[in-house]
Amino acid sequence: MSGATRVLVLNSGSSSVKYQLIDMADEQRLASGVVERIGEPGGVPDHTHALREVALDLKARGSGLDSPDLAAVGHRVVHGGTRFTAPTLITDEVLAGIEELVPLAPLHNPANVTGIKVARELRPDLPQVAVFDTAFHSTLPEAAARYAIDTATADRYGIRRYGFHGTSHAYVSRATAALLGKEPADVNVIVLHLGNGASASAVRGGVCVDTSMGLTPLEGLVMGTRSGDLDPAVVFHLERVGGMGTDEIDTLLNKKSGLLGLCGANDMREIGRRMAEGDKAAQLAFDVYVHRLRRYVGAFSAVLGRVDAITFTAGVGENSAAVREAALSGLHNLGVTMDPVRNAVRGSAARLVSAETSPVAVAVVPTDEELEIARDTYGLAAPADKNLADHSG
Ligand code: AMP
Repeated sequence: MSGATRVLVLNSGSSSVKYQLIDMADEQRLASGVVERIGEPGGVPDHTHALREVALDLKARGSGLDSPDLAAVGHRVVHGGTRFTAPTLITDEVLAGIEELVPLAPLHNPANVTGIKVARELRPDLPQVAVFDTAFHSTLPEAAARYAIDTATADRYGIRRYGFHGTSHAYVSRATAALLGKEPADVNVIVLHLGNGASASAVRGGVCVDTSMGLTPLEGLVMGTRSGDLDPAVVFHLERVGGMGTDEIDTLLNKKSGLLGLCGANDMREIGRRMAEGDKAAQLAFDVYVHRLRRYVGAFSAVLGRVDAITFTAGVGENSAAVREAALSGLHNLGVTMDPVRNAVRGSAARLVSAETSPVAVAVVPTDEELEIARDTYGLAAPADKNLADHSG
């Protein structure tokens, strides 16, 4: 006689809705999918229709939205500002709070809000939980979170470093401790989340103390289509000398820069192929990408003082031995010695790719943001059921 143990995780983006149904009794994935091209030719017209498609798919697999086994819905929300620093049960007031943060994340929060509204309409009786991409970084000390601009201006407009990919950094830093056979509290980790978006974080004893993304996900590492760090005067220069408008510059830096801007491709696999053919632009893009990574590894080593592990995750981090090798080669002075053979082995499990003798472990840990969101959601929405499940196994 167990209660509802299933959690539906929804990641509503501007043009897609990704979903996973996870049974928290054994953390097994029962269904997953994506509805793409929302509002585009060939796609569904809007998020309401997208969620209806999700509901239909789940029904076809025998676990529809009306299933009594469904315990809660967990929503990924990109920006929680300074208000939401932990997973939060969604009420009208919380939803209004997330909407108020739209100016800080105009590309992301509106889609998250729509997803929440539609899901609440479909199952108003069900607990729904918002899990924020910024929450894990809310522990950043002021010294790391503050930009060195006029404090009154910064406070008036909410300008500070918030950080993103928090669910991934939280999950991966804990999984790294487990891989080392230690408690998170005893481990200092640099996490390199290298996907199409990319960010680094410095995690001391399970607590995030620095991260590369800032007010928005534009700052920091070189990404698929985002520039990462820039002299802010580049923006003034583009305006004054290039005659570009704000939206145009926003698009340039977010959508046409990074690897794509440097060589015309944002997929590291294609860049690897082109480098092998001697393509100079692809080589330059790779070199700029890796140089920025090394900078952050060095900076975060100094921030942490003692580093136990450096962990790669997400599409590039999990799959590109070349990026891992180039980013960490020759760092013996920082205590890092890679094992080229281990690094070259492909795999889907969490694993070490450093030499046995390396004082700093180098790990590859597949991220699982959906599972992390499901755990957060279940922990908040169904504590009684959780206890049942915990004690039944
Ligand atoms: P993500 O955002 O985590 O899904 O990562 C997507 C990115 O991972 C893609 O744009 C690719 O550049 C990269 N990627 C995926 N598979 C590989 C691979 N086998 N080798 C290198 N890069 C990869």
